[in-house]
Amino acid sequence: MSRNKVRYRVRLRYPESHIFEISCTVAEPNPLGQHFFMPAWIPGSYLIRDFARNVVRISARAGGRAVAIEKIDKNTWGCAPCTEPLTVTCEVYAWDHSVRGAHLDTTHCYFNGPSVFLAAVGHEDCPCEIDLERPVGPQYGAWRVATAMRRLDAPEGGFGTYVANDYDELIDHPVEAGVFSLARFEACGIPHEIVLTGSHRADLERLCRDLSKLCDYHIRFFAGPAPMERYVFLIAAESEAYGGLEHRASSSLMCRRDDLPYRHQEKVTENYRSFLGLCSHEYFHTWNVKRIKPSAFVPYDLSREIPTRLLWVFEGITSYYDDLALVRCGLITRESYLEVLAQTITRLLRGSGRYKQSVAESSFDAWIKFYKQDENSPNAIVSYYTKGALVALALDLTLRRLTANGRNLDDVMRILWIRHGQPGKGVGDNDVRITINEVAGTDMDEFFRSAVDGTEELPLTDLLHDVGVRLVLRQAQSQDDRGGKSSNSTCGDLTDLGIRFKPEDGGARLIHVLDAGAARVAGLAAGDLIIAVDNIRVNGNLEKMLHSYPVGTEVAVHAFRRNVLFCCQVTLQAAPKDTCVLELINDIDERTKANRDSWLGEH
Ligand code: ZN
Repeated sequence: MSRNKVRYRVRLRYPESHIFEISCTVAEPNPLGQHFFMPAWIPGSYLIRDFARNVVRISARAGGRAVAIEKIDKNTWGCAPCTEPLTVTCEVYAWDHSVRGAHLDTTHCYFNGPSVFLAAVGHEDCPCEIDLERPVGPQYGAWRVATAMRRLDAPEGGFGTYVANDYDELIDHPVEAGVFSLARFEACGIPHEIVLTGSHRADLERLCRDLSKLCDYHIRFFAGPAPMERYVFLIAAESEAYGGLEHRASSSLMCRRDDLPYRHQEKVTENYRSFLGLCSHEYFHTWNVKRIKPSAFVPYDLSREIPTRLLWVFEGITSYYDDLALVRCGLITRESYLEVLAQTITRLLRGSGRYKQSVAESSFDAWIKFYKQDENSPNAIVSYYTKGALVALALDLTLRRLTANGRNLDDVMRILWIRHGQPGKGVGDNDVRITINEVAGTDMDEFFRSAVDGTEELPLTDLLHDVGVRLVLRQAQSQDDRGGKSSNSTCGDLTDLGIRFKPEDGGARLIHVLDAGAARVAGLAAGDLIIAVDNIRVNGNLEKMLHSYPVGTEVAVHAFRRNVLFCCQVTLQAAPKDTCVLELINDIDERTKANRDSWLGEH
């Protein structure tokens, strides 16, 4: 493969039209006809997105002349044979305000490489040079650039020339340009930047202080040195948003502006805790998935779905450590950690899909199930994030039990880092099991059969008892009850229809109808609008109305299905005990206390 440079030019010519003009120049094009390819998906988000759909115009030139270019398949273009340096220029529409796409308007520019950069086929291993041009106009004079991409000829935080070793690196450095808040901190000597866009009133000093503790913890967790020279948190503060995407030396995060700490706020609120959990999650991915990665992703084939049975390792174990790191580095209390862990357990218990799909199957089918959820998902699938995190918990506590608290999941991750992450060697289906057996000092096949490949309940009550934590299950007080807190209900047994709904003017719209619930038995379906119970109008108060009836009562329910009124008789059931609360047991022996301190950290 040629080592010629591939040059990209990014012109933000029409921010008001949301159009990037991107050109790609190949010095030595394939003389038989150079092909160019646009990824169908972005690593970290397992859904076919066909970024080529946003290309609205494309042309090619070489030696001052136009070269014929035509579409070969949905993501690929072919140029007529030529021998001189070949430049393909395309206009890419960018109006996806998410961490996975590209967005351009008169207020800012954000892009992920897979959304905008063509790959020159056969030149993917060549070094890339990227000229980022400032949009023309006085209103763009104050715009700055934030990215983890290396600068070649650009002032710090400025427009100019950047470089990447190859196409894979090029598309792994999202770029933000515009007017944003910037703060810096160090963790283990590595410079970190927080880039915050959108209106906000966040206390940046506090963010720096807290994130530096957190990043320091993660770098030390993998026994340093950090695998990146610098790191950038690109954060967009919005009215309603939550999500993130990991990259090798940065992450893109979206949160609600209320999630960020205000200057006069001392406590870690639930919102801020979940924001810290998100940062922790994406940062842990710097090791787990960006470098310790499934063999199926080495290298990434971005033209089609690439299934792996291991997403529970990469997303589940990451989800386990994201919150655990917060308590271990002292950002939250043990009680606060147990509250979020109980909420994770609650989420698992709320869907009967966990009896039908294993976490390995959930990983494999992520492309067509987890990423394409519908009204039946709670009955059909299990999340490799949620269950994966709890399999990780069960694994951690089992390893502690088997080795008299000598070894644990941290050891497994460090071995995976040394054997797979550092040398860039993919993790095969059996490598995780082999490593775990090694750390356990015994064969854990039964654990894998049941927890990873099977659909049996995880033995969490028993395992948590080892570390002095009591698991209590109770009924949900409402569908907004996420668990983690004791109930303040004054009712005895609460009734339930077995539904998730959205209050709507004039009734309750059914979103999910759960397996074996009262609503399912009576024939109600997702999409139905319940308007009356026992002949009384429902007005955003459905749960309160139901709680006034004893379990076993038969009530008439009036509903619309596709605008046709019908009535059915529903026998109210007792709400399931699917809401988890975790409590620290006070009266524990020294050994249990030592186990708990080792698990949660000494803070
Ligand atoms: Zn993740």
